[in-house]
Amino acid sequence: MDILLLGAQGSGKGTQADILAAKLGTPHVASGDLLRDAINRDTSTGKQAKVYYDRGDLVPDAIMVAMFLERLAEPDCANGVILDGFPRTLAQAEALDQALASVGRSVERVIYLKADPNVLVQRLANRYICRARQHPYNLITNPPKRPGICDIDSSELYQRSDDTEEAVRRRLAIFFSETIKLLDYYGERGKVREVNAEQSIQDVTRSILQVLDMQR
Ligand code: AMP
Repeated sequence: MDILLLGAQGSGKGTQADILAAKLGTPHVASGDLLRDAINRDTSTGKQAKVYYDRGDLVPDAIMVAMFLERLAEPDCANGVILDGFPRTLAQAEALDQALASVGRSVERVIYLKADPNVLVQRLANRYICRARQHPYNLITNPPKRPGICDIDSSELYQRSDDTEEAVRRRLAIFFSETIKLLDYYGERGKVREVNAEQSIQDVTRSILQVLDMQR
């Protein structure tokens, strides 16, 4: 089953995608993680993307579509994925639909994690991720057990280069002007379910499983 988590930065997409991936045994594929990995490894795609990434701008569709579809073609993605951060534009959504349709699949559910922009800014200011595998933490709502260390793999926690106040404002503005259009795109196809992302992590998970008819 292919499930898209749609929400602004700070809505908890990554956290919920990790939880869902573990519960459903489906890989969590995050476009931001793919980009950070390419930038860290200094690949040619990483070099091209870095300038957009650091400013908080969208990376051009051609780069993103190629990178994401390449990942989706890997064997572990053959039975469905939890999509996080892609698509973010209508062109990306159309490219994804085409690629999935060519293998008899489609995005079955779009979960919109809805939260007030003020809550999002507050969350992003306190967000840290781990060096090794980008596990997300929030110093207030979801702190690590040992300060500065990932609970899961013990790697160092750091603040993302695009979590500066200016880049955060830019990214939220892009979400609410551009990516939000995907709600209409998938809404017209009857796929969207809205979840209140201002609840606790556990309650958001419960709400997602409810709208997916998967309470367990
Ligand atoms: P994220 O980790 O999802 O917040 O993404 C971090 C940054 O990566 C974004 O601010 C963009 O610069 C870039 N990015 C991630 N996914 C996409 C996408 N689907 N399209 C364009 N840019 C993206």
